[in-house]
Amino acid sequence: MSDFRRRELLAVLAGLTAFGLGMGEAWASPSKKSKRQQTRKSVGKPTPPTITKPKPKLVVLDPGHGGKDPGALGARGTQEKKVVFTIAREVQRELLAGGRYRVLLTRTGDTYVALRERVARAQAAKADLFLSLHADSHDNSDVRGASVYTLSEDASDREAAALAARENRADAVVSGMRLADKSDNVAQTLVAMSQRGTVNESRRLAETIVATFAKNGVRLLPRTHRQAGFAVLTSAEIPAALVELGYLSNPQDEKLLTVRQHQLSLARALRASVDAYFGAGAATRKA
Ligand SMILES: [Zn+2]
Repeated sequence: MSDFRRRELLAVLAGLTAFGLGMGEAWASPSKKSKRQQTRKSVGKPTPPTITKPKPKLVVLDPGHGGKDPGALGARGTQEKKVVFTIAREVQRELLAGGRYRVLLTRTGDTYVALRERVARAQAAKADLFLSLHADSHDNSDVRGASVYTLSEDASDREAAALAARENRADAVVSGMRLADKSDNVAQTLVAMSQRGTVNESRRLAETIVATFAKNGVRLLPRTHRQAGFAVLTSAEIPAALVELGYLSNPQDEKLLTVRQHQLSLARALRASVDAYFGAGAATRKA
């Protein structure tokens, strides 16, 4: 064999080897692919989503009033819209710190947002929970303490009815919405809410807040959980409560609501309430 021929032969052999390897790969890949397809098929059918982490719950915080609507005013000039916004921000921080929740605020600054717009924002975001934060005022400056409200067509008492009327006025004054529209809205929402179980869930939420506040030393009104036709609580799908954090008409409450330490302890009590409501608060319940 001449050198030339030997080289030619080697070249052919090399080519065959390369071809053979190529074939091997070419065969290997489709068989791997089909295995993958098979596994994909078998995963797709019966197994429930086992490893997927539960989606963090979305909590919508609703600091009452804002912009041209200052809300209740204290004797020392404290504005409801300001204290509830500061506290809502603290609640947001508390909730985000644990990594279990997503949090949205219905207003992120000192702006006026209509009550139905607040409801619409929570609905659009598909909130799991809606908490409206307020601070009340009373003719009797001795009245003090926090209270919690849920939606009802018939108010639990005259004071709750008067409070709902005061809170609902935010829309009537600024956007000129008729009150008749609102009571129709409350009745309709309640029907839809009871069909979906939201009435019971809202009640459970309110009672959880009352119990958690009591455990955390937050002063409460007697018969704390009350009901009335609050326009801001009219979302059929979202369990919702309105919390009055204290009375700006009471000198001690007004002072406390502006003290950072008290604002933080209210925020912690609200976070603990949300934890307890979602049943995730094993550590919280000990506190
Ligand atoms: Zn208010």
